[in-house]
Amino acid sequence: MTQNLHRRSWLQSLSAIALAASLPGLARAAEALRPGANAALIVVDVQNCFVTGGTLPVAKGEEVVPVINKLAAAFANIIVTQDWHTAGHASFASSYNGKKPFETTTLSYGNQVLWPDHCVQGTDDAALHKDLKLPTAQLIIRKGFNKGVDSYSAFEEADRKTVTGLAGYLKARGIKTLYITGLATDFCVAWTAMDARKAGFEVYVVEDATRGIDLNGSLAAAWKQMAAKGVKRIQSADIAV
Ligand SMILES: [Zn+2]
Repeated sequence: MTQNLHRRSWLQSLSAIALAASLPGLARAAEALRPGANAALIVVDVQNCFVTGGTLPVAKGEEVVPVINKLAAAFANIIVTQDWHTAGHASFASSYNGKKPFETTTLSYGNQVLWPDHCVQGTDDAALHKDLKLPTAQLIIRKGFNKGVDSYSAFEEADRKTVTGLAGYLKARGIKTLYITGLATDFCVAWTAMDARKAGFEVYVVEDATRGIDLNGSLAAAWKQMAAKGVKRIQSADIAV
């Protein structure tokens, strides 16, 4: 009898451990992430073009703004990016006869999704969302300004040769860990996160501080590719603010 009781109690302990292990949210809450002086918040493309009313709206894109504003308090370093295209840019469907937005074409560097005209340099459409409040942001990096080359990534243009200089900037400042937020999860956020891994940074993507476009299953594919590169998927509640 006693032996049976001991056995039952031992089994109960074991199942409690298994339960805790299967609930990573609970495990994380016990040890919130505290970004230090060598961490930076990267805010990708939270511009008028990518929210409701913009030229290439991401569904509910504006919902990331309050989440990012709240997170900002936890960071000593913030970097903001802007998609910043020339008129007649190579990523615009309107630049090709007979092409429609969301079709693809082949450019010298490979496959290119064709988008509606968006985020043209100096327009209100390309401006940062007016409710974004990041008073401590230190750098705005603009990308996609070479007329013939797109740039989803904040590190490297789509030709995979031309760099933006962001990796050098971050390294020169001793920054080692990046928390990535913004628009859109499956394009500019994902490419930025994967290139950040390639450049040697520890990378978190804060899922509820992003929104996706999800073109033909691209959102699930992007999370899978990011995981394979060692990008960690977290929620804003995992960060101590
Ligand atoms: Zn673009």
